[in-house]
Amino acid sequence: MSVSAVWHPFTQHATEPAPPVVTRTDGAWIETDRGRLLDGISSWWVVTHGHRQPQIMAAIREASEVLDQVIFAGLTHEPAEKLAEALVEMAPGGLAHVFYSDSGSTAVEVALKMALGYWRHAGDGRHRIAVMEHSYHGDTIGTMSVGERGVFNAAYDPLMFGVEKLPFPTGDGQATLDAFETLARSGQMAALILEPLVLGAGGMLMYAPEVLRGLREICDRHDVLLIADEVMTGWGRTGRLWACDHAGIAPDILCTSKGLTGGAVPLAATLASERIFRAHYSTDRTRTFFHSSSYTANPIACAAALANVALWQAEPMQQRLDKLAALQAERLARFEGDARFENLRQCGTITALDLRVGQGGYLAEDGPRMRAHFMAEGVLLRPLGNTVYLLPPYCVTGEDLDLAYAAIDSYGRI
Ligand SMILES: *Cc1c(COP(=O)(O)O)cnc(C)c1O
Repeated sequence: MSVSAVWHPFTQHATEPAPPVVTRTDGAWIETDRGRLLDGISSWWVVTHGHRQPQIMAAIREASEVLDQVIFAGLTHEPAEKLAEALVEMAPGGLAHVFYSDSGSTAVEVALKMALGYWRHAGDGRHRIAVMEHSYHGDTIGTMSVGERGVFNAAYDPLMFGVEKLPFPTGDGQATLDAFETLARSGQMAALILEPLVLGAGGMLMYAPEVLRGLREICDRHDVLLIADEVMTGWGRTGRLWACDHAGIAPDILCTSKGLTGGAVPLAATLASERIFRAHYSTDRTRTFFHSSSYTANPIACAAALANVALWQAEPMQQRLDKLAALQAERLARFEGDARFENLRQCGTITALDLRVGQGGYLAEDGPRMRAHFMAEGVLLRPLGNTVYLLPPYCVTGEDLDLAYAAIDSYGRI
């Protein structure tokens, strides 16, 4: 088999067939040299409104007429300034400062560094990080350290730092809250990092807003910083702008990336509360926040994000999310009581269900077979182990979704 020069992500080149070549994207659809595919996973969770959303693409064109990358230390520009103001206004209360980077992983790395910097500058030796079982926060060494350990990162284990792990919340989540209360009481915990309400890569695992609120209360009682990784959940996925909005809570630090530009171009932001910014604000230059990405606050990406923000302000987004959630619920219901599937679940625009076969786990035999079947049916889906999920762009129609659910149904029959 001839192998291309490209080394693809999460791809076993020895066993996977050569991928289709994408020639065009449009709304919920991806055109390839082998036919059209419905993008059932928003191109790995980044595309929110739809591919090539017209206002966002226009903003990119316009911005590129006047600006490209400029150094962001010692210089600033209007797209970044305006976007920061808008993000502070739209984010849960108390998040007052915006630090730009270029991916979800960097947004999380920045968050962890801000948290540790905060405690150092506060003269407190806290440095332990609490995490939730089955979490995913990125693929860099630091973000892998705070994520679930397993086959993906076993080789890099010697490089990773230790963390305190909370059990994933089941039922009313009391066991998780109790475990965190005990940890938090130790006075050693610098921060708790979590994916609010939906653990994406961990298998679209969902927990109740009450648990999130309970964790926030424990953070407050014991002065532990809460880092909300909204990289996947932000920008409407859970049915509200932010997953934190369901619980009516604000984290001390919030990470956003994927949907920030509507999914058109890479950009990330880490939002921090005033006290975290103030801990770094000093005539003592050792307190500077020593971090930068080369492409920090890329003006074209900021312009795309501003167009995304404008859509959220001008369009009936909540109505659109509610409608998509209803379309999803109606279709997921066809699998109720179906012995082939279990754990049917939904959070806003996301649905998931587990195929009741095989040994489970990411390397489950069914994964690649399912993917191939869906592709043959014209639907792009990437099951996580035996978990099949739909996380579509918001422009998807009921008819489009019918195609995706029919493909899931027909897989269950072969
Ligand atoms: C995708 C994801 C990341 C990493 O984002 P990249 O842009 O791929 O680096 C971090 N956290 C969560 C919750 C994610 O879903």
